[in-house]
Amino acid sequence: MRVILKGHANTYGISDVLRLFYSDVKEDKENNEVTSADSPEMTLISEIFEGIAYTYEEGQARPGFDDTYELDPKRAVKKSFYKYMTELTSVSYPWGCLTGIRPTVVAAEENFEPQMLSDKYYVRDDKAELACITGRKEHRLLEEIPEKDLGLYVGIPFCPSRCEYCSFISADATKHLGILDKYEEALSKEISYIASNINRDVSMIYVGGGTPTVLSDKTFEKLIQNLADKFPKRSEFTVEAGRPDTITSYKLDAMKEAGVDRICINPQTMRSETLARLNRKHSAEDVLRVYEEASAKGFDVINMDLIAGLKYEKDEDFLYSLGKLLELAPENITIHTLYKKRRASMGKEEVLDRNFTRGSVDDALKTAYEMLFGAGYIPYYLYRQKDTGHGLENTGFARPGKECRYNVAMMTDKRDIISAGAGGMSKRIFEHGRYERCPCTKDPHEYIRDPLKYAEKKVRFFH
Ligand code: SF4
Repeated sequence: MRVILKGHANTYGISDVLRLFYSDVKEDKENNEVTSADSPEMTLISEIFEGIAYTYEEGQARPGFDDTYELDPKRAVKKSFYKYMTELTSVSYPWGCLTGIRPTVVAAEENFEPQMLSDKYYVRDDKAELACITGRKEHRLLEEIPEKDLGLYVGIPFCPSRCEYCSFISADATKHLGILDKYEEALSKEISYIASNINRDVSMIYVGGGTPTVLSDKTFEKLIQNLADKFPKRSEFTVEAGRPDTITSYKLDAMKEAGVDRICINPQTMRSETLARLNRKHSAEDVLRVYEEASAKGFDVINMDLIAGLKYEKDEDFLYSLGKLLELAPENITIHTLYKKRRASMGKEEVLDRNFTRGSVDDALKTAYEMLFGAGYIPYYLYRQKDTGHGLENTGFARPGKECRYNVAMMTDKRDIISAGAGGMSKRIFEHGRYERCPCTKDPHEYIRDPLKYAEKKVRFFH
């Protein structure tokens, strides 16, 4: 398909919407058009004419309209184009033409009135309701985080094996055993430099990955204790322990000793057969064993992640996994929907075309949310990713009072975050919602060679 834009240049918005329906979408800013490999014989016109947005086939007369240019031209062309594509393909999406912006942000703009999301973006009623409930919660939590607060992200971009669906930049730790200790040493240098030079109190620490617990017991303990010593004024300390096969009693004790109050133990599914096929080196029994041990040690919050729409699974497998988690009753449960990642070994067709179809992921999520609400969990953050096979969302649920403040600070782009480690993105917030980013090299080897070069750059970024 070819879409020619007239009277506007919103190639970005048109591509975003077209990507929901068709594959291999390309933006051509120079010629003010967007193309897709699908339906090559078809040419559409997306036009703003005398203040009104139209979508129609080339050579035909302009039809009716959806919205006005004066109200919001960007939204008007997307809405008009989405409506046309829905009629053309007989497919509609739960989030309608809401793309490129977090649903909770739009919910806040619309005073948390679900009907406004449905009217303005064709968002389905249940998703509009979800965005408003989550947005309200997110908004209240953000108000509790003082504006001067600084979050510290510490990245460990290594994993014990690569999960089949993952395209994160993590390196396979089994091939990099030699550099894990060196990486921690480099990280320690950067952390010390930040602690001595940032002139701000770090209130939230989040150690993520990859899989932070892929480090050896002693190296992991050194890292966690170093963080505890350097940032004594923190009020929240989270470690994404992640893969149960890397979580040892020693590491759990080290985290407890250092004052870590929140940990993540992420099963993704409680079906051992699926875990094996996805190249995760642990079983559902490992999850239960580690969860029980961590629980007994008294961590304030345990988060567990699940994925809806995994290859090899049907909706009942996902709901079975959620049922198992609800029996454990962790303080947080995060539900991800599988999406196409550019470098993952799983292609878009595989994401869409298997037992777990788009419709069944959608239905399974509806049931899952009912189960979570019924068990007393409330959604407090929500985001969507580009290239979703099914246009769905990822949602963090928590028992009231057990939410992760770092997640809210990071998701909302409303609080400063400094990132230590390779691949981290520091973010500084300015007035009127403006923010700037400061990236770090993604290459762990390059990072190890000169961590202070990156530390200095990040500290300068905040001065
Ligand atoms: S544990 Fe997470 S980051 Fe690591 S390979 Fe699996 S999905 Fe990717």
